[in-house]
Amino acid sequence: MIAAAIPVPASILPSLNRCKTMKEAQQIHSYLIKTNLANHPFTVSKLIAFCAFSRLPHSLTYASSIFSRVHFPNHFIFYVLIKGFCDNGDPLEAITLYAFMLTCLNELSGFSFSLPSVFKACGKVGAMREGLQVFSQVLKTHLLCDPFVSNSVVRMFLELGEIESARCVFDKMPERDLISWNSMLSGYMRMGKIELAGRLFEEMPEKDLVSCNVMIDGYGRSGRCELAEDVFKMASEKDVITWTSMISAYVNNHLPIKALDLFREMLRLGIKPDVPAVVSVLAAISDLGFSEEGKWVHAYISSNKINLSSGFIGSALIDMYSKCGYIENAFDIFARVSHERKIGDWNSMISGLAINGLGQQALEIFLDLERMDIKPDEITFLGLLTAFSHAGLVDEGQFYFKIMQEKYSIVPKVQHYGCLVDLYGRAGYLADALAVIRHMPIEADVLAWKSLLSSSVKFSNVFIGEIVALQAIELDPKDSSIYVLLSNIYAKAGRWDDVSKVRLLMKHRGVRKIPGCSTIAVNGKVQQFIVGQDMDLRYSSEIISKIEELVSRLKLEGYEPDLSQVFQDVEENNKESLLNLHSEKMALAFGLINTSKGAPIHIIKNLRICCDCHNFMKLVSKVYSHRIIVRDQNRFHQFDNGSCSCKDYW
Ligand code: ZN
Ligand code: ZN
Repeated sequence: MIAAAIPVPASILPSLNRCKTMKEAQQIHSYLIKTNLANHPFTVSKLIAFCAFSRLPHSLTYASSIFSRVHFPNHFIFYVLIKGFCDNGDPLEAITLYAFMLTCLNELSGFSFSLPSVFKACGKVGAMREGLQVFSQVLKTHLLCDPFVSNSVVRMFLELGEIESARCVFDKMPERDLISWNSMLSGYMRMGKIELAGRLFEEMPEKDLVSCNVMIDGYGRSGRCELAEDVFKMASEKDVITWTSMISAYVNNHLPIKALDLFREMLRLGIKPDVPAVVSVLAAISDLGFSEEGKWVHAYISSNKINLSSGFIGSALIDMYSKCGYIENAFDIFARVSHERKIGDWNSMISGLAINGLGQQALEIFLDLERMDIKPDEITFLGLLTAFSHAGLVDEGQFYFKIMQEKYSIVPKVQHYGCLVDLYGRAGYLADALAVIRHMPIEADVLAWKSLLSSSVKFSNVFIGEIVALQAIELDPKDSSIYVLLSNIYAKAGRWDDVSKVRLLMKHRGVRKIPGCSTIAVNGKVQQFIVGQDMDLRYSSEIISKIEELVSRLKLEGYEPDLSQVFQDVEENNKESLLNLHSEKMALAFGLINTSKGAPIHIIKNLRICCDCHNFMKLVSKVYSHRIIVRDQNRFHQFDNGSCSCKDYW
């Protein structure tokens, strides 16, 4: 390096750091060439470092081309280039450069800077053999004592799925810092080793904020919500990620009310939620179906000027509104993100229309998407097929199931086949549905069998129902709803002996029936009605007399209690009172007593709404001029002026 003795102008570095484009950097490079400074080890290193880290378009290629003209590259130049390649999308090149460095330089101590990047690169591309080679070189030195190096080895092993090797290195580290502990904890969590993570967390001498966040997130994702709660309560310091992780833990574990409460608590304490927290709480509200809460969060989004396109806010709002039964508001959000729609927004809109029974509209949205040359994904088709099945559009369903494979090369998954089974089953083509299950190239899941079982109940097909129920029970012997559906088929056919047999089988296997449960929110308070459970005494008599009043009023409009919906072998006159105690009727009565005239009533039901309650709601919506929205296990029903949005097809 002949130029080493020439002094470097002090202005070079600051002007390099001010470069906003590669063109400016190139101008500095030509200046260096003209002034004979281009080979100066200091300037060339700085120039390569700038290009390797700047993330400007083509900067890495430019760094590489300068590098190729350097006759004797030093450790620093190798380090910046290896790091640049590793972090900016070409980890393989980083590994190749490291190997090249070994042939050029022999002073091993200078390697330690590049080691973290090369281990990271090996982890990223799954280069196990190369990773082990570098590791064995390191073992021969004292470099493993350097936490920078040893932490990168731990992370590489975790990335490669070699969890025991990672732990081994971790245990042998003379000094562990927070990065070591947190890497090991999140590695365990990612691999589903919850117990090991828990034990390691206990052993931690100092539990920092990041480790608490890792634990809350990991416990939440693995269904251990109580443990996540313990860590949350114990954490002495909490940041927005701690709160968001706990809210998501509640959402993932179907505890939407707790998620919503925690979100409110967060706001009360003056902590500004981040975008993922808002998305999570919207998911909680979708789960609950409480539109008032949803509108409140929407107002929060608007007043805090959170962009609908940031994160998944747009699709979360579309999802929330459609699941709360306000499809027009969902459409409004969808229109507002029209300039920068992501595939997630399209997918939420299509599935939103699907669960609201609007098959034709879902198809129109899909055709818009095709016209705009946007490529649908497997979730788009899941929504579309669901839309067809809920709207009874069998031909369209068959057609697009083919299009998905032939035009878009999407291989149908078990859920897509499930939609096809549902499509045929709901339309009464039970034999076709069974043929799909039997001939699909992958094993059908219990949901597909259960969907066909529901269709068999609907069309009173005992023959297919029995076959299907036995298969479903084999797949999930503890799922009470399968036994209930089977006993429903027998009850509809008047085969009470078989009903008793099913009940005995349930008892024998320790399977308990999930009681019907309806939830209604009035004036911000949530009221739950569970069949067979004592209501609050203040309510019970008032509600029962309200239901009786409704029944006699509706009878004048031609309502006849559908006693076939009572699947118990009891006297005819008892059947009617059992029918009156269905949880959604109690919730409706409560709603009518406590809401002002004309205000919509929202009910969430944990199981499928029965035919009698469905008919009942239709008549109430007409006689009492109330819009009633019921979300049952499967879909939405919007009752307005005597008819339902599902067109009696559910
Ligand atoms: Zn009912
Ligand atoms: Zn309906």
